[in-house]
Amino acid sequence: MATVNRDHAKLICDVGELSAIITDASDLDAMLQKIVDTFAGHMEADVCSIYLYDEAAKELVLRATHGLLSSSIGNVRLRSGEGLTGLAFSERRPIREDDAPAHPNYRFFPGIGEESFRSFVAVPILRGRRPVGAMTLQSKQPSHFSAEDVQVFRAITMQLATTIEMARLLLTLEAAPASLAPAPALSDLRLVHGQVGAEGYAAGEAVLIRQPSLAEIRALIGTTALALPDFRRAVATTEQQLEHLEKLAGERLSDVSAVIFSAQLLMLRDQSWLGAMEEQIAAGTGPAEAVYRVILNYVELFDRMDNAYMREKRYDVMDVGRRLLANLSSHRHVESPLEGRVAIAAELLPSEVLKLGLEKVGGIVLLSGGVTSHVAVLARSLDLPLIFVDDPRLLEIPDGTRMVLDARQGNLYVAPDQEVEQRFREQEEDRRSAPHLAESMREETHTADGTRVHLLANINLLADVEVARSYKAEGIGLYRTEFPFLIRNDLPSEEEQLRIYRRLVEGMPGREITFRTLDVGGDKVLSYFDYAAEANPFLGLRSIRFSLRHRDVFLQQLRAILRAAHDIEVRIMFPMISSPDELAVAADAVDECQASLRREGLPVCERVRLGMMLEVPSVLELMDELAQRAEFFSIGTNDFVQYMLAVDRTNVNVADLYIPHHPAVLRGLHRAIAGALRHDRDVSVCGDMAHDPRFVRFLLGIGVRKFSMSARYLPRVQEAIFATRLDEAQAFAKRLLAESSVSGTTRVLEGG
Ligand code: PEP
Ligand code: MG
Repeated sequence: MATVNRDHAKLICDVGELSAIITDASDLDAMLQKIVDTFAGHMEADVCSIYLYDEAAKELVLRATHGLLSSSIGNVRLRSGEGLTGLAFSERRPIREDDAPAHPNYRFFPGIGEESFRSFVAVPILRGRRPVGAMTLQSKQPSHFSAEDVQVFRAITMQLATTIEMARLLLTLEAAPASLAPAPALSDLRLVHGQVGAEGYAAGEAVLIRQPSLAEIRALIGTTALALPDFRRAVATTEQQLEHLEKLAGERLSDVSAVIFSAQLLMLRDQSWLGAMEEQIAAGTGPAEAVYRVILNYVELFDRMDNAYMREKRYDVMDVGRRLLANLSSHRHVESPLEGRVAIAAELLPSEVLKLGLEKVGGIVLLSGGVTSHVAVLARSLDLPLIFVDDPRLLEIPDGTRMVLDARQGNLYVAPDQEVEQRFREQEEDRRSAPHLAESMREETHTADGTRVHLLANINLLADVEVARSYKAEGIGLYRTEFPFLIRNDLPSEEEQLRIYRRLVEGMPGREITFRTLDVGGDKVLSYFDYAAEANPFLGLRSIRFSLRHRDVFLQQLRAILRAAHDIEVRIMFPMISSPDELAVAADAVDECQASLRREGLPVCERVRLGMMLEVPSVLELMDELAQRAEFFSIGTNDFVQYMLAVDRTNVNVADLYIPHHPAVLRGLHRAIAGALRHDRDVSVCGDMAHDPRFVRFLLGIGVRKFSMSARYLPRVQEAIFATRLDEAQAFAKRLLAESSVSGTTRVLEGG
């Protein structure tokens, strides 16, 4: 263990001062040097170094060092994962070694003066979740750095991350040979095209959303002289705002909202938190500085927790802190600084999307995720326009830049001309004044030649039920039960689930209702559930695999469904089934729950129909066997495409390879439908292909008579079906199935 008790508070203050100096430093190398000198001094380290990631060379490059030979700057290069530094970078976690040369991953560079160092610490420099470099400390003494040192080093590195990243970008620009075209400047960024996640339109000022770094929180500390009464006023304002948001959430999103803001409210009312701030203010520290210090303390505290649920709390601390500081500096009651604005973010959790919805953000631009990702699915439920654009330059757009988000075409206009804005405003007004699409919906749907087709709704939030009714959905083809699990802070109890499910049942009286059991994992991680991080979450403990592994969670959910549906016929569907064995285990669990509820004398559904989703290609070979136990099937095309083509549905890098009209996908769908119909099983399509009119024709042609989708798409799909004759649809499907290349199917889709 380290024997020296280093003065961390002083270090934090010095780095605070340093931030101010570096903001206007003109010489980047000198600035980085100053950082390493300061760190080395305070940590009593012999070496402190900064490595920055060079995107072009895909290497970490030593950019500044205190303690190693200065000639090594620019020359020591590591690949991601190489050596302990590369490991901290690639795994985005701090590494501490008491005797580094003994570690198998240790990478020794001769001739840079590194021979005699034993203790070693490396922390990643993270910009959001993206690593942009690493910082290291070394000492000749073994066991020189303590766990606390690492925490502080990490916290301060985070604080400096924005500045360091900026330095990295500038250094990259400087290093570019003059003959190369200059890097695109923000002024070139006028129109960006992306993929539509949720349709709609928004015009407003840009606002960058990300977990604020401590540096940004610190930057909120104004210079105005403030005192205790200002602090108390800011606390009261913050409390009012949070109470207001909590109330709104309760009214509009009762199924998922219960605890969204309450953790923050609790924190705000917690005397040890407030007390610590008041104490510092009483001792002469400015209120903003006091708030900042207490936040920093708590963030470190939560970071050290072993439990994932507790570690998550750091974000609540930062959120409350940011709100408190904003109120402290403005002295105004700001209802929602996000209202009507276009939010840009590298990535967002479902709960963050929900919060943005409650704060009435106009639209969202995301850098990661795909159109079938669950964040997009949620945005549709919230009626929040959203597009995905894989262009990191968007993160550099200054807050307040005017934006027009056309999330019908997938276009984002940055600082558009007045004319562009005007054109969109007029279009939007026309659209609003047009008769409401829901009113044009007919009760029943038929093809042009009279074949009956059923149109149902996908439900993500309870709020969707009313929308589904207004669009005359014939029932619920897919209730994604996971959203209440995802957005809360802990597992909903059986009773809580029962209440939510009962409202769903009562919301669609007399209609078909399909509950899909929990589909977590993949891009839907339960942040409070401690399970090991997975390298390939979509191939990991996802969906039914999670339920079967965590049987208590599964049984509790099944019991809640069976109780909620005690007086109706209910359909229970298992996601991501890959074999008859898995289906049998899941189905047996339903029998077991029915039996136990009967024994307990609780009301229980006796009319259960069991079904499964067709999402994993293995099922194509086993339709005959699966049909023995499954009474119905529903094709989740979002996953079916992903697994058939081995293309992560949330990875924008491969979005162009996510091709629903790939001939293997189309033929696979054909086989799946034929397999279900051969056994006279009810079969529907509930993935995104169900709402694309081009695919609706194809699906009709191969025998699909039931479609389930986000209710807002129902009118256009109904219109497409009314306009299609079955024989035409069959001929169209035949032409598509005859094609064996993507270019061939594209041609048919575009031509027909
Ligand atoms: C699908 O995979 O198509 C589907 C409907 O399920 P989810 O999008 O929730 O994975
Ligand atoms: Mg799916």
